[in-house]
Amino acid sequence: MSQDLKCFVGAHKYELHETREVRDARGDITTVIYINRCTNCGKIHIKKVFYEQPYR
Ligand SMILES: [Zn+2]
Repeated sequence: MSQDLKCFVGAHKYELHETREVRDARGDITTVIYINRCTNCGKIHIKKVFYEQPYR
């Protein structure tokens, strides 16, 4: 099964492209956004992880 066909059915081959940190007014990280990109077709998939306890 080729990667093109896998992409067609939604089974992308994601690779971590970039992470972004969201901070609150105190400078604590509240959310980390992981931006993944398919190495084959370039589709972007974003995953957000929320921290209830401030992450340092
Ligand atoms: Zn893809």
